[in-house]
Amino acid sequence: TPLIDIKGVRYAYDTATGKLPVLERLDISVSQGGFVAVVGPSGCGKSTLTRLISGLIRPDEGEVWLHGEQVTSPKPTVGMAFQNPVLLEWRSILKNVLLPLEIVPTKLSRTDQEARARDLLALVGLDGFEDKRPSELSGGMRQRASLCRALIHQPEVLILDEPFGALDAFTREDLWQIMHRIKAKEPFTGVLITHDLREAIYLADQVVVLSGRPARTQYVMDLDPNR
Ligand code: ADP
Ligand code: ADP
Repeated sequence: TPLIDIKGVRYAYDTATGKLPVLERLDISVSQGGFVAVVGPSGCGKSTLTRLISGLIRPDEGEVWLHGEQVTSPKPTVGMAFQNPVLLEWRSILKNVLLPLEIVPTKLSRTDQEARARDLLALVGLDGFEDKRPSELSGGMRQRASLCRALIHQPEVLILDEPFGALDAFTREDLWQIMHRIKAKEPFTGVLITHDLREAIYLADQVVVLSGRPARTQYVMDLDPNR
């Protein structure tokens, strides 16, 4: 069975002028450890899709399943990273990465929590920056720290909503390589929202194209993971 299974989803926002249908007949299926990229024009409902997967909103029709359970509320097993990482300036990078563990406690001891945070920071090349403040880091480094924060809970699903969109071309390609490094080490199932088809093909093993208004799954491209 797929780890993420979105079946016939329809979603409309309630607005002052009535219903705004955004998604209809949306079908996406991702196996465990898979990495899907969702591409489509601005405003086609990609962020809405991430909210459906993370349980922040519920479909008007159809179903969203995660690991055999229907999604009806937010779960800590979903990690998220966004285009503009919000890091808390009064906390060190290490403490920012540890933040989700304060909000949703784990069984890990304090020592193990910190060791995991340090391992993640090392994995993305931020060893030595644990005690810095966010403003002391470049945009690419801050995004790397926010990826560590999204991963600290070992989420089953990692949702990346245009995480590299605000970065310059060089930094973006650095981040792509770092994503491959993370993917080799961390066992998440990935959902990448992007405008960049090149990025989708570089990182994902399945590309889903949304289009239309309301948007639907227009086509699905499976890529050879060993390409
Ligand atoms: P994308 O991420 O692909 O740019 P979004 O999911 O953010 O698209 O938005 C899809 C459509 O839904 C857009 O027309 C947007 O204006 C509208 N929309 C998004 N969020 C809301 C909201 N909270 N209330 C009403 N309309 C919204
Ligand atoms: P993105 O395309 O990256 O999702 P947007 O500019 O579409 O960014 O949306 C930014 C935020 O504004 C989102 O949280 C979205 O829910 C909200 N939003 C977008 N469109 C509307 C709208 N028409 N009414 C209310 N909120 C909206």
